[in-house]
Amino acid sequence: MSEVSPEEIAAAKRLFAGHCEFVAGAANFEAIPALALPEVAFVGRSNVGKSSLINALTGRGALARVSQSPGRTRQINFFQLGDVLMLVDLPGYSYAQVSKALIAEWQKLIFDYLRGRPNLKRVILLVDARRGVMDVDREAMTLLDRAAVSYLVVLTKTDKLSAAERAEARMATGFALKGHIAAYPDILTTSSLTGDGLDLLRCHIAALAG
Ligand code: GDP
Repeated sequence: MSEVSPEEIAAAKRLFAGHCEFVAGAANFEAIPALALPEVAFVGRSNVGKSSLINALTGRGALARVSQSPGRTRQINFFQLGDVLMLVDLPGYSYAQVSKALIAEWQKLIFDYLRGRPNLKRVILLVDARRGVMDVDREAMTLLDRAAVSYLVVLTKTDKLSAAERAEARMATGFALKGHIAAYPDILTTSSLTGDGLDLLRCHIAALAG
C-alpha cells in the first residue's frame, strides 16, 4: 500500500473530487438499498473523526455531517462516488452504547447490512491514534471477523501525535490486530486536519472501485 505511483494518487484524487452525493439512509434492513456498486464502509467509535475523514477524503465540508443531523445518526448512510463506488457511513459506536441492548441494536443493523452484501469490498475501521484500540473497537473487530468482512484499520487525528508517538501507535495497533483473522495486514495513519495519509487511503479505496 505504501508503494503507490503518482499516477495512482492523481487518479484517486480525481475520483474523490468528482461527483459525490447522498443517495440513501437506512435505519433498518428494509431501507438498505439494493446491491448496485462496489461498497466501502466506514465505522468507528463515536467522535473518532469519521465524518471529518469522509468530508476530507471527498473535499466536501459537510457531506457526512449533513446526513448526521440529530435523529439520523443511527442509520447507515450511502454516498455514491461517481458511477463506480458507494461510500457507506455506518453508525458510530461509543462508550454510552456499551450497554448490552445498544450493542445488540448496533450489531443487528450492521449484521443486517453485512448479510448478503457481496459487493462490500472493505470496511474502514477508524481508531483514534491517541487512544489506540479500545474494548469497543475489539468488539467491532470480532463482529467483522465473524462476518468474514475484510477490514482496514485507519488511525485518525495523527496531527495530535509526534512522529515517535505515531510510530508507537501504529506498532501497538498492529499488535492489537493479531488474531483478528479478517483484518487487512496494513495500518494507515491519517489526519483530516493536515491531510496526512489521505492520498494513500484514497488509493486504497479507489483500487476497490468498479
Ligand atoms: P465522528 O463522530 O466520528 O463523525 O467524529 P467527527 O468527525 O465529528 O469528529 C469528532 C471531533 O474530532 C471533532 O471535534 C473534530 O473536529 C475532531 N477531529 C476530527 N478529525 C480530526 C483530525 O484529523 N485532527 C484533529 N485534531 N481533530 C479532529
